[in-house]
Amino acid sequence: MKVLVINAGSSSLKYQLLDTDSREVLAKGLCERIGIDGKFTYKAPGKPTVDAADVAMPTHAEAIQAVLTALVDPHGGVISSMSEIEAVGHRVVHGGETFACSVKIDGKVMAALEENIPLAPLHNPANITGIKACTAVMGPNVPQVAVFDTAFHQTMPPVAYTYPLPYEYYEQDKVRRYGFHGTSHRYVTQRAADMLGKPIESLKLISCHLGNGSSIAAVSGGRSVDTSMGFTPLAGLPMGTRSGDMDAGVLEYLMNKRGMDIKEMLSVLNKKSGVLGVSGVSSDFRDLCSAAEKGDKRSELALDLFNYGVKKYIGAYAAAMGGVDAVIFTAGVGENDAQQRLAIASGLEFMGIKMDPDANNIRGKEAIISAIDSKVKVLLIPTNEELMIALDTAELA
Ligand code: ADP
Repeated sequence: MKVLVINAGSSSLKYQLLDTDSREVLAKGLCERIGIDGKFTYKAPGKPTVDAADVAMPTHAEAIQAVLTALVDPHGGVISSMSEIEAVGHRVVHGGETFACSVKIDGKVMAALEENIPLAPLHNPANITGIKACTAVMGPNVPQVAVFDTAFHQTMPPVAYTYPLPYEYYEQDKVRRYGFHGTSHRYVTQRAADMLGKPIESLKLISCHLGNGSSIAAVSGGRSVDTSMGFTPLAGLPMGTRSGDMDAGVLEYLMNKRGMDIKEMLSVLNKKSGVLGVSGVSSDFRDLCSAAEKGDKRSELALDLFNYGVKKYIGAYAAAMGGVDAVIFTAGVGENDAQQRLAIASGLEFMGIKMDPDANNIRGKEAIISAIDSKVKVLLIPTNEELMIALDTAELA
């Protein structure tokens, strides 16, 4: 089945057209600066690439129209008519407690998505706009499916998701740990079971999604039982620019001392903290590695702090699950940065993790990177959220 996968942001829209039978990406690209000055990119194997500025895209509807026009273009296109697209799959950030799995979108689902806006005020409205734009441009008869970042983590037990706050904040205000990157954690843990040749029901896995945003999930028997992100994606590990977990007392102290309001404070925590904040150099691990190699101490500290954070979660989640069969590395840093993977795993020999430095010397390919005699396997698995969204969509449409 040919499925169009859409990841709509407030002023951008990422898309991929996938064939779920062959699992091939037929075309992909990005609409940026929607409502500003419209930038459009399109790539399809063996076809001319489009990289155009000043494309009129006042709203997401024109962006979707630009995608469809490119897909059916006689020269660069990959389908002969729009009717070949049998379904659309949308990445939706927050499903709250309403959605524990992907769903086919109807009026009721749209109403529930609207209800969840307060939980993700920046992201969910953009996702809703993307869905409405597809309906407007493609018509109401093309089935659309919502795949949630939070859904996979809905299996967490109360002990993992409850915050130690007055309980009415959970009951009345829905404040709890939700977790994110669920589609990625679900994809790589399923692949891990395939690679290990064991049923996922029998496995205890720790999935480390280390990118610009990073989160770790404990997955026991195929079910997420804990994860490092929380009510928002600001929690857990230090990330590219996000602080991760922070003593709330620091916020009051800094806001008073530096005269910041809560908006400014949150902007610092989201955009100026993490490895960027500590290093003062970059949020990109490639820049940090080269600065550290040249002797920049703060870049070295930023990398150490990140690796130490990941290591502590691996220990914590092994304890939470009563053991671990495999640790998975995925996303930008996890897939590409052999040095950080080694640093994270070093010192974990006591729990049966032994890396094979030669096998680890690899990028962006599925591989077992632990030593043959490592009790706990370590796996490199490139994530593929779009494929997961397309497969769910094909199943539900
Ligand atoms: P996002 O959270 O935006 O989806 P990605 O998963 O694409 O992030 O990860 C992006 C990050 O991956 C970059 O900021 C960079 O730090 C890191 N990265 C990408 N390639 C490499 C590489 N070759 N070596 C080290 N880090 C890399």
